[in-house]
Amino acid sequence: MTRLITDPAEAAALLRAGELVAFPTETVYGLGADAFGGRAVAAVFAAKGRPHFNPLICHFPSAAAAFDSDVVADDRARELARLFWPGPLTLVLPRRATSRVDLLAGAGLDTLAVRVPAHPLALEMLRAVGRPVVGPSANRSGSVSPTTPAHVLESLGGRIAAVLDGGPCTVGVESTVLDISAGGAVLLRPGGVPVEAVEAAIGPVGRPVPLSAAEATRSLRSPGMLLSHYAPSLPVRPDATEVGAGEALLAFGPTPLHGAGALWNLSPGGDTQEAAARLFAGLRWLDAEGQRLGLTRIAAMPVPTAGLGAAINDRLARAAAPRR
Ligand code: AMP
Ligand code: MG
Repeated sequence: MTRLITDPAEAAALLRAGELVAFPTETVYGLGADAFGGRAVAAVFAAKGRPHFNPLICHFPSAAAAFDSDVVADDRARELARLFWPGPLTLVLPRRATSRVDLLAGAGLDTLAVRVPAHPLALEMLRAVGRPVVGPSANRSGSVSPTTPAHVLESLGGRIAAVLDGGPCTVGVESTVLDISAGGAVLLRPGGVPVEAVEAAIGPVGRPVPLSAAEATRSLRSPGMLLSHYAPSLPVRPDATEVGAGEALLAFGPTPLHGAGALWNLSPGGDTQEAAARLFAGLRWLDAEGQRLGLTRIAAMPVPTAGLGAAINDRLARAAAPRR
């Protein structure tokens, strides 16, 4: 049985004992495990059904905790940490030879992805654990990320020890993943920190194209850039300008399209921040409601690409991509 708990110290004790505990962050719920524990890390991949070539993000209570023991931080990393941590920015940095993070957690790469989350319960838990905690999204691999404890239980109930209840996530899309392990800076995933804000701090950031599963397996530099991800059961049709027969509608803005069998408006006021926070709950609800009503597809209205819109469009494109 998976327990719902509210005490970060209890979550930390479970993690130190090698158990899996889902925990709240500002982005989505993470599936926590002791990053030094080989069995715990392997259990994360098993619980999620996650391919082993896709490495995990290590979470720390402070930049110093990450930079002193597990990764090498240059001036850009320190500046980005100063500006955006705690917060939804993940940095891919060279791994220290002395790091005790389990090799499977890093998929055997010579880099590690690190982040300090902006959630008081997560930070309290991380301080109490006293070592890094891996935290991929707390859902089965490839499906929609969880933004409430109920979402976690739907996906992983019975497979993990506990969920630390921190209420709904405020940002709602995953962290921005930025690779600065070599000379340049490459955006591996748009997310909670707009790439424009990163560029204002460190200059131009490269944007690679997403890979198919086959290409990603071959190219270990960016294993998480799978084209199909974040997918509900019903197919998704992005950039909808009208609603077809049998479609549910993921709307955006004051004038949702007419004729949908089920409607979820991401933000009637047209605010991308509100839309990000409501995205995954909306996809889950339309998926369940659509199936209950016998609908066959989710049409998604266009969302502007500025700010958090980039991350929203990225998730919708992956939800709509051909399934593996
Ligand atoms: P998730 O844990 O589901 O939020 O996904 C973590 C993302 O970070 C995935 O896209 C991973 O491929 C990516 N990632 C984690 N570690 C690395 C790394 N060392 N190099 C490149 N990408 C990474
Ligand atoms: Mg995920």
